Amino acid sequence: MEFERLLASRHHFMKASEIRELLKLLDQPEVISFAGGIPDPEFFPREAFQRASAEVLTQAEPLQYSISEGDLGLRQQLKAHMADLGVPCGVENILITSGSQQALDYIGKLFLSPGDTALVESPTYLGALAAFNAYEPRYDRLQVQGNQSPEVSTAAAQAAGSCVKFAYVVPDFSNPTGETLGCGAREALLDRATTLDCAVIEDAAYQALRYEGEAIPSILSLELKRTGDINRCRTLYCGSFSKTLAPGLRVGWIVAAKPLIDQMVLIKQASDLHSPTLNQMLVSHVLSEGFPAHLEYLRKSYRERRDVMLNALTSYMPDGVHWSQPEGGMFVWLTLPPHIDGAALLKRALEQEKIAFVPGQAFHADGSGANTARLSFSCGKPDSIREGVQRLARVLTAV
Ligand code: PMP
Repeated sequence: MEFERLLASRHHFMKASEIRELLKLLDQPEVISFAGGIPDPEFFPREAFQRASAEVLTQAEPLQYSISEGDLGLRQQLKAHMADLGVPCGVENILITSGSQQALDYIGKLFLSPGDTALVESPTYLGALAAFNAYEPRYDRLQVQGNQSPEVSTAAAQAAGSCVKFAYVVPDFSNPTGETLGCGAREALLDRATTLDCAVIEDAAYQALRYEGEAIPSILSLELKRTGDINRCRTLYCGSFSKTLAPGLRVGWIVAAKPLIDQMVLIKQASDLHSPTLNQMLVSHVLSEGFPAHLEYLRKSYRERRDVMLNALTSYMPDGVHWSQPEGGMFVWLTLPPHIDGAALLKRALEQEKIAFVPGQAFHADGSGANTARLSFSCGKPDSIREGVQRLARVLTAV
């Protein structure tokens, strides 16, 4: 049977990554991997979850269907959490999603018709591009750094008669660069979005993992100061418990104007009815049991690993290699000399020194960034991070 003929046009936009094949080699025990951007399973609060499941499963409720908006108790906790972040809102402004990845898919589904424009940074989160790609958008580059005003190349969009629907950013300790947008850049981004009359997608997956420096107000909180009414805000905030509690539970949330949440509730109903009731109740239970102390422990542990990686890069990397200085999150972004291709370097690094990372090109919607790489420090023990950086530096010195 000729399957190709039967598939929707969107399948052309869903590409498997070539580096996946190489990354299969990661299972070998002697490989030191900086590739996976995942939390260290050692830090999962397993005992708290064991206590929570014993308690929660005394009732039938967690095993039953529930409402699409999400568990009310959990949304009330999130309402309090958002108020602490300077976003007073109602539970009706919150939708629980199956991880923030689902939020990105729903946002694509809600906003993007084929040919619409999504503004993304270059580089940006690969999973966001994968989620949006299914809705066949075109991308324009959103250049927004540190505290500068964003540069947006919308001329091409206008020439093509395309409508700019949203600007997507990971403002805190971004995946992949580890960089953070300053307050000025966030305000300037809101100004640009207002001029363009488009939405802003604030992907806050790493926001809670700050290791140094002052917290920067979320984009949604800054906009709320301008409008005074969440239901008139153009920013959609996507949160997640994947990095702070457990990604396997797939619990995330969106905060936005009620008309947008109402639309996304309809999408949720058609998609999976609701996120698993049991998982939402487990998260709610664990949140009420010393979550701030758990966050402190995570920050301390990841901070140590970040410091080890940054110090090792300073000690061992040859001239011509530059890297970001993340104040939180899980990633350091390497910029290699222009003649070095990240994918070719990965092949060599795996073969010669059994060291892995993610080449940076795939994070660029426009195919640029061949001489970049993402290193994650989240899963390595300090000694292995130091050893891994030393090995990578050896490969780079020999190129
Ligand atoms: N956004 C960013 C920036 C991420 O790095 C990730 C996970 N790697 C996600 C969203 C999705 O996370 P989850 O679906 O587990 O919440």
